[in-house]
Amino acid sequence: MSRYTKEHYEDVAKALKENRAWAIQMDSAHARGVMASTIGTFADLFAADRPEWCGRCESWKSGYASPEGYCCLGRPHAWKSKFNREQFLAACGLES
Ligand SMILES: [Zn+2]
Repeated sequence: MSRYTKEHYEDVAKALKENRAWAIQMDSAHARGVMASTIGTFADLFAADRPEWCGRCESWKSGYASPEGYCCLGRPHAWKSKFNREQFLAACGLES
């Protein structure tokens, strides 16, 4: 069971984006750093809640399957997750 939904990602990203815009407006490197760190923390939290799995062999990324390991037929694993980190960072106004 996942704690968070797509709606959570969107609402949190919206709030973080507004706070980041405020930090940029203040022209404070400290505030910008705090916001970047907060955004990273939320991205980690949401990613941990939605572990990646391989669409080909259906193994979870943590545990037995090593991220660099190979899947069936010698191809790399096709990792998938319901949480898209790049998309979330972009929604917060950050590039990945
Ligand atoms: Zn695989």
